[in-house]
Amino acid sequence: MKKPVIGILTNIITVEEGTYAGGERIYVNRDYVLQVLSAGGIPLLLPIVHDLKAIRQQIEHIDGLLLSGGQDVHPKYYNSEPSPWLGAVHDERDVFEMEAIKIAIERKIPLLGVCRGQQLINVAFGGTLYQDIPQEIKTSDLLHTQRESRQKATHRVEITPGSRLHAILGSTAIWTNSFHHQSVKECAPGFMVVAHASDGVVEGIEKSGDHFVLGVQWHPEMMSDEPGTKKLFEAFVSEALKYAKT
Ligand code: MN
Repeated sequence: MKKPVIGILTNIITVEEGTYAGGERIYVNRDYVLQVLSAGGIPLLLPIVHDLKAIRQQIEHIDGLLLSGGQDVHPKYYNSEPSPWLGAVHDERDVFEMEAIKIAIERKIPLLGVCRGQQLINVAFGGTLYQDIPQEIKTSDLLHTQRESRQKATHRVEITPGSRLHAILGSTAIWTNSFHHQSVKECAPGFMVVAHASDGVVEGIEKSGDHFVLGVQWHPEMMSDEPGTKKLFEAFVSEALKYAKT
């Protein structure tokens, strides 16, 4: 049987030194690729393209869309001015990824959004973000930009009973790593918050209904020894396999 193809959204980095200095490279952290492989999917990296027809053709080739982490989403996409605490943004990425998300959702392709990926799904469907947690959520007493290594869990996340995420993880609480200074503020219409940290920060959202559209604020792909990571990627790839058969 053919394995489902998981499109992974990529980032761009400018080469700083050496022969190719000034050149741009397409990349994604290998953790995403390895998790898709171990869950039984075929990873396929999708570079940023600008032409709408080209984006559509990219998405037509995949059975699942994995949104990787990265820069802050530009606040203009949720009708806000940039705050002085806004981090690096990437306009080309925002435009491309929001189109990719919309096409994937229209085609009912399963989506898994990680970190920026969750935030982008929320913004693409009319939700808003906190631009900087320490500045805007004064009651937050957790370190969401952890100093520990990437695979280490540093704070607890409560999972909403009855949610898809709860069914996947089989638990109402897990420990996660945390590498974000932004988070979901108003949840997009048609979506619900399904995970939050003890300070109230949103750590997971999902689309209501049958279509698998799930966002998590932590980086499960970096925690390869956590049982929750395997469960999450296997659930995603198995949805992609179902889609591939339709
Ligand atoms: Mn966090």
